[in-house]
Amino acid sequence: MLATPANKIYLNLNMLKTDRYKAFVAYFSTHQPDPVTELHYDSPFELLMAVILSAQCTDKRINQIAPALFARYPTPETLAASTTEEVYSYIKSVSYPNNKTKHLLGMAKMLVAEFNGIVPQGMEDLQKLPGVGRKTANVISAVIFQEPAMAVDTHVFRVSNRIGLTNNAKTPLATELQLTKYLPREFLSVAHHWLILHGRYICVARTPKCNICPLTHFCKYFEQTNTETFLRKKESADLQKARKLQKNKKLNQLAVQLQKLSVPNAVANTD
Ligand code: SF4
Repeated sequence: MLATPANKIYLNLNMLKTDRYKAFVAYFSTHQPDPVTELHYDSPFELLMAVILSAQCTDKRINQIAPALFARYPTPETLAASTTEEVYSYIKSVSYPNNKTKHLLGMAKMLVAEFNGIVPQGMEDLQKLPGVGRKTANVISAVIFQEPAMAVDTHVFRVSNRIGLTNNAKTPLATELQLTKYLPREFLSVAHHWLILHGRYICVARTPKCNICPLTHFCKYFEQTNTETFLRKKESADLQKARKLQKNKKLNQLAVQLQKLSVPNAVANTD
């Protein structure tokens, strides 16, 4: 039995996973049919640089430094011929600039030496490039080559778990495998953007904005955190916390009063 904020929405706690997927695809394909990455780029090589740089950094920050970087290094050949110091100077404001400088240079050198200066298609070749892990390779596969790939970043990992699209997925790979199994192939690459954008703006990490979220009718987290049992437990825990705080406050006040009367440590064992 559910007690939503308005006590008016009735949800199905036993909703099947396949129904959650259907509801997820139905909502987003209607309301957000053509989501795109928020990273700015004009070529596969630019997107590859941007995605490598975006690890543990915001797209906003990457978009700020990208124009100068892309203008200086329009091709893998120009980047491969550069120096550590110069590349670093373009990316020093992003997270982990030393490592990312090494990755960019290594990636460009390998593109020139082994792939004719062209971003390769295929997970195996992509993952040979320095700085390119499974997530980055999936992004390039989906965005550049329109492959049915699911890149799992921190937003995709968290949001798919909260909604209940994944069950007990402990790693990005487990998340990817579950999403890939249940999502129709044609929606895999767009679903990546749906989950990222939803996680970035509504289902945020610390406190999800469930009060403005349109997915409450099929979200597992919302169901679980709005049952009467959950709310009662939460109320009881909050009450206990408040009582404890009150008790500590009184003890502190008592200790201060005793200190003033020069009776130190007299309340040490009162708890
Ligand atoms: S209802 Fe809350 S937890 Fe569920 S997807 Fe929306 S914001 Fe996230």
